[in-house]
Amino acid sequence: MTDKPILSVRNLKKHYILKAGLLNRTVGAAKAVDGISFDIYQGETLGLVGESGCGKSTAATSIMHLEEPTDGEVIFNGGGRAGESRNDDGTHPNDVTKFSKKELKAFRRDAQMIFQDPSSSFNPRMTVGSAIAEMLLVHGMDDKHRRRAIVEDLLERVGLSPEDYDRYPHEFSGGQKQRIALARALVLNPDFIVADEPVSALDVSIKAEVLSLINDLQEEFGLSLLFISHDMSVIRKVCDRVAVMYLGEIVEIGKTEELFANPQHPYTEALLSAIPTPDPRTRAQGIELTGEVPNPANPPSGCRFHTRCHRVIQSNDVDMDQDAWRAVLNFRDSVRSEAIDIDLIEENALIEEGGHGDASDGAIKDQIRDEFNLPDQLGDTSAETSLERALDWIVDGEMEEAANFLSEEFVTPCEETVPEFTDHGDGHRSACLRHSEESQTVEALADDD
Ligand code: ADP
Ligand code: MG
Repeated sequence: MTDKPILSVRNLKKHYILKAGLLNRTVGAAKAVDGISFDIYQGETLGLVGESGCGKSTAATSIMHLEEPTDGEVIFNGGGRAGESRNDDGTHPNDVTKFSKKELKAFRRDAQMIFQDPSSSFNPRMTVGSAIAEMLLVHGMDDKHRRRAIVEDLLERVGLSPEDYDRYPHEFSGGQKQRIALARALVLNPDFIVADEPVSALDVSIKAEVLSLINDLQEEFGLSLLFISHDMSVIRKVCDRVAVMYLGEIVEIGKTEELFANPQHPYTEALLSAIPTPDPRTRAQGIELTGEVPNPANPPSGCRFHTRCHRVIQSNDVDMDQDAWRAVLNFRDSVRSEAIDIDLIEENALIEEGGHGDASDGAIKDQIRDEFNLPDQLGDTSAETSLERALDWIVDGEMEEAANFLSEEFVTPCEETVPEFTDHGDGHRSACLRHSEESQTVEALADDD
């Protein structure tokens, strides 16, 4: 690994325009990738991790220019090109997003991509050997015998045999097909490979083999890699550094060891705690990532993770158990989005009471607390009074009043302020308001002196 980036991504955005209705009007945009920046150094494997729907694949296809990015730069210094200086108009000569057709063709030789599903990446009517050799032909190697010799050699290097040249894709297992995909990605001797969930579709027993093959090949070919996965345990096996992505943004980046040992962003913590350990009792902190990734067309304000964050900051005027605070906010959001099924709650309350006719107000309120993991009594008296008042409104069927009141009473700074990146040293950075608030506090104290 050197200190020279082979790829620099700057403020990359990909917004998918959403259209609807008879007139096909634009109704919004899915901000699948919403301003990500990172470098990949020569010989390095950078991991990109996040749940399904966070924008990892969109980031990959935008970087490879398989899709037109909405904004940002992708500066590629491969193929012997190196550039620090900019053109007169401020653009970068190595910006992939501005490449001409000819430059793109050269880029497509130096940068390759591997996809998750090995079955759909091959033409079923073409032998795997000719599928790989075709890459050489497209890039100008006319000598048929030479092409065959190169491909046979590569097949061996990925753990297959030269005789496999004349076989068809269906004759191979998933793991073998991914080996063939690797051979095809390597045949033009690229500098850089994007691997989008390359082992996610493989059986557990095969995963480790293919991962160690990727590790070996990376060293042998001096490759730089962007390695995408939703699985932290896979990331740990192959990546030098990791970028954690949530809802179109990068929330934490750092060296793999450091990030696994000292995760700074609660989202990273949650992803790490999802790794199964041999001993279930040691399952890291037992943080559970509940709910789904929100819709990228309408991302939460402030920190995009605040709707699911177990460390979501309490407002200045409350002081309660953190789990209770999370529960109060979940309750508030459900009331606000009219996601409470009050009829069902009444039914369940009646069953609890074992009564007939209508459930009592008290039983309904208990039932709501139960369903939202709200404690019988909040530790903060004034917050408890507010919560009780909102519950009264709900029991009376005044949902809108309850929603408005909860929205005024319970506010987290996390929904009001977009967090900036904080530096934790050695290239480890994270964007969480808890850290910027802490550093502000430190500054404020210093000012007082
Ligand atoms: P990941 O690879 O992390 O699972 P994707 O990049 O596939 O995430 O998707 C990110 C978000 O962008 C998702 O919400 C997805 O629904 C949305 N998305 C992806 N492709 C399109 C498209 N062509 N049109 C609209 N939305 C899209
Ligand atoms: Mg994907």
